[in-house]
Amino acid sequence: MEDMEKKQLSVVIPCFNEELVIEETNTRLRILLTGFIEKGLITDFEVLYVNDGSSDGTLEILTGFASKDKRIKVISLSSNFGHQAALTAGLYNSSGELVVSLDADLQDPPEVIEAMIEKYNSGYDIVYGVRSNRERDTFFKRFTAQFFYKLMGLMGVNIIYNHADFRLMSRAVVKEFKKYGEINRFLRGIFPSIGFKQGVVEYAREKRFAGTTKYPFKKMLMFAIEGITSFSNFPLRLSLVLGFINFIAAIMLVVWTLVTKIKGDAVPGWASTVLPLYLFGGIQLMFIGVLSEYVGKIYMEVKRRPIFIIKKTYNLRGRSKDGGRRMGPQPPLQDDQST
Ligand code: UDP
Ligand code: MG
Repeated sequence: MEDMEKKQLSVVIPCFNEELVIEETNTRLRILLTGFIEKGLITDFEVLYVNDGSSDGTLEILTGFASKDKRIKVISLSSNFGHQAALTAGLYNSSGELVVSLDADLQDPPEVIEAMIEKYNSGYDIVYGVRSNRERDTFFKRFTAQFFYKLMGLMGVNIIYNHADFRLMSRAVVKEFKKYGEINRFLRGIFPSIGFKQGVVEYAREKRFAGTTKYPFKKMLMFAIEGITSFSNFPLRLSLVLGFINFIAAIMLVVWTLVTKIKGDAVPGWASTVLPLYLFGGIQLMFIGVLSEYVGKIYMEVKRRPIFIIKKTYNLRGRSKDGGRRMGPQPPLQDDQST
């Protein structure tokens, strides 16, 4: 027999109010993963659903899955911590040799996981799912997303173009990932910086199977600001550069004012007084804003609050329960409902 080593696959799925899709997602995944085992691609699997404080029937449906199949595990967070935190909670508690993160809405077709595993087998530690199309997104979403990737690139942030959070990670990568303790989470920026051998698998992104996007414009904008200020000091440097240019301009203005005065044709000018005032005032305000963004981030980080808080788990006895802060041995879970 060829290599009989154990190869367990963990699939991590954050869910926020996804009652309309998860039945379908779960069915499709189970068929797919069972097929993987039959093909000998993996030896076992677990599906880790993270309920991110849903207010609909998501948790009930998920625990229903868990009660029928031990390989389906559920982590229920104490409130809505956001997509990135929910994903983190899932990754922290995964145990597979290979870990794949996937959205609940079937926009990333789970069938692509097969190609990801093949890439893993040929020596890759991180495999990014990259969208080859965006036709199915609204024009607005497409435009803002494209703009965001360009902007990130310009500011020197290393992210994979058109890659969301559909990726395969080896156990070694997940282990390193756990060392990233920041509360300002932008996983797409973190993974490329982990290193190891990284590759890409292209796929066509589907339409959301059902339900509505959990990323309205406001959340998307916040996410973009998060991504930029978590990984780039460019806006800070920009303030320095612009400040310097302003300083030069101000000196020239002073010289010009003095010369005009000495020549004797100084008209008590309203414009020349008020315009620079507006200009410099505006620029100063803008960069106080930039600074506050970073100061706010530092504030959030120094508080060392947990990234996520787990309320209850199902089929997950004995896994890490802490909010993604400390490393080392963890106390066993007490509140697991499984028997
Ligand atoms: N999600 C989450 N917490 C949130 C928002 C979203 O766990 O606060 C999950 C959501 O259930 C989905 C994934 O993150 O599985 C991506 O969200 P969505 O599909 O709404 O984003 P889009 O594809 O529209 O960017
Ligand atoms: Mg989606």
